[in-house]
Amino acid sequence: MSYNIAMDGPAGAGKSTIAKKAAARLGYIYVDTGAMYRALSLFFLRNRVNPDDIEKVAEKCREADVTISYENGEQVVWLNGENVNSLIRTEEVSMMTSKMSAIPAVREKLLSLQKKLAESENVIMDGRDIGTCVLPNADVKIYLTASVSVRAKRRYEEQKGKGIACTLEEVEENVRMRDEQDMNRPVAPLRKAEDAILVDSSDMTIDQVVDEIIRICKEKGLK
Ligand code: C5P
Repeated sequence: MSYNIAMDGPAGAGKSTIAKKAAARLGYIYVDTGAMYRALSLFFLRNRVNPDDIEKVAEKCREADVTISYENGEQVVWLNGENVNSLIRTEEVSMMTSKMSAIPAVREKLLSLQKKLAESENVIMDGRDIGTCVLPNADVKIYLTASVSVRAKRRYEEQKGKGIACTLEEVEENVRMRDEQDMNRPVAPLRKAEDAILVDSSDMTIDQVVDEIIRICKEKGLK
């Protein structure tokens, strides 16, 4: 039986950084589901599909093949055979992803891939609906959050570090809009599962959050 850790939370809460580190310490596979939605959105952007045209999105979905693999412990996302890891972190893709991921056909397409991964491997999977929809029976559920201003500042530093031009105000506005879209969509909205443990990382360092998550997992029976 595989051990599954579900981690959800809003944009910029630090999920991917934390989950990656926790996975490395536990020897688990880190599954970044946001990257899968991002790859699909890149496909829609390239094909100029309007996110308001739900039928077109559903139809076009069939032409996109999204898979993941691991190279030196890093998740690689493939879109129709192309490694798109370096293309999916722009603000444009982020906004498109938040819109596209509200469409049921998009979610259905990625759900079975995510479930299958967790069946066969010990995983720490991060996203928005992991504890509520993808892995409702996960051994541990974490809801990782932080204040809007802290999350915006982190995203801004991250983008700046990558040489991507943006202002703190733009990034904060983007974070607020994504919160609004992700939390209020009718299908698989972002919310804390009833049995998830809330961790607020606003005043914690990365290592403190990782330690806290591993402590919670041990409390929940992780050997
Ligand atoms: O986690 P990340 O910021 O990469 O996710 C990008 C977007 O993908 C989110 O804003 C959200 O709209 C969508 N997403 C989702 N369900 C997931 C993971 C991501 O709807 N499980």
